[in-house]
Amino acid sequence: MTSQVHLPGSTLGILGSGQLGRMLALTAKRLGYRVHVFSPERDTPAGQVADLEITADYTDLTALKRFAQGVDVVTIEFENIPVQALAALQQDVPVYPQPPVLEITQHRLREKQFLSDLGIPVVPFVPVNNIQELQAGMAQLGLPAVLKTAGFGYDGKGQVRLETEAQALAAYEAFAGQACVMERFVALEREISVIAARAEDGTFQAYRPVENRHRHHILDFTLAPAQVSEALEAQAIQLTRRILEALNMRGLLCVEFFITQQGELLVNELAPRPHNSGHYTIEAAVCDQFEQQLRVVCGLPLGDPSLRQPAAMANLLGDLWMKGEPDWQTALGLSPVYLHLYGKQEARAGRKMGHLTALGNSVEAAFQLAQQARERLNR
Ligand code: AMP
Repeated sequence: MTSQVHLPGSTLGILGSGQLGRMLALTAKRLGYRVHVFSPERDTPAGQVADLEITADYTDLTALKRFAQGVDVVTIEFENIPVQALAALQQDVPVYPQPPVLEITQHRLREKQFLSDLGIPVVPFVPVNNIQELQAGMAQLGLPAVLKTAGFGYDGKGQVRLETEAQALAAYEAFAGQACVMERFVALEREISVIAARAEDGTFQAYRPVENRHRHHILDFTLAPAQVSEALEAQAIQLTRRILEALNMRGLLCVEFFITQQGELLVNELAPRPHNSGHYTIEAAVCDQFEQQLRVVCGLPLGDPSLRQPAAMANLLGDLWMKGEPDWQTALGLSPVYLHLYGKQEARAGRKMGHLTALGNSVEAAFQLAQQARERLNR
């Protein structure tokens, strides 16, 4: 299909309806687009702000056809969409990122194989499809290790750290025959990520690497920019570019990296969509990640990813609601702090309900302000 430009006034279709879709939809509305959202849920974060929320299963071909007929271009906010759904949509409407990109990135094993075939450094891994491979994995990688399901994992779900052989057997049993990947457990110095866009003509724009701090495997804080050497920054951006090119991808990609205690840069995961570690760009970059995604899928010129000011983002998980409604009044007394809430009705432990972004003259100042604001919510 020849590339088309979808100007403001066109209708953007979004598959998936969580907070990423919500922030993308809000941006698209700001730029004068109409937005239709498709997901199996109702009254969703993205559906609440879209022009139309379609609730149907990703396997419902009739509903997909109706969705395709109502939009000019389709993108995703969630990568675990069945590739068949994307292929069906593609018969009627352009879809970015392209379905083969999702086929790779929604499956840890295919993703790791793809990266290691490219010669990109990844954590040593082995596929585990049966007990023999589990045993062989432990022999090859040693313990501790991490066992992860190959599909449908996010925010630490579907992964277990293995210290002993007994734990490995129990973990494998709990995953009930799902295809798995075993990884060596790496001693990390820190974790960073790079978000970048690649247009149809190969034009590339990257945000600077940011540092991600996790708690219980869930992103807790992002600090922008990451305090790493210029050489490492350049290397991370260069690897991101190579991955986008090898995927021949048109869209926005987040690459999560590990920096080992030996100073090695390893790719952990790919996400072909906006990412939690890019939320700070809404206030701190010239063009934020959601506008960049909109631009790239609509064929508009890519925006300027430059950082205007150091920033820190703090996630607000459902745990904050356990003692009642967070104290918004007190937290909002701090400035410059920006509150984002995703419109989720039910606060559950570990569920991402919103985030705060703080700006500062240094990363450290922004980080302190973000911490202080979040602490105030908990009074
Ligand atoms: P993932 O879902 O694979 O991104 O894992 C979530 C988090 O778990 C990562 O961001 C790391 O903090 C930690 N983690 C995952 N895999 C490993 C590993 N092989 N070695 C050390 N830490 C890991």
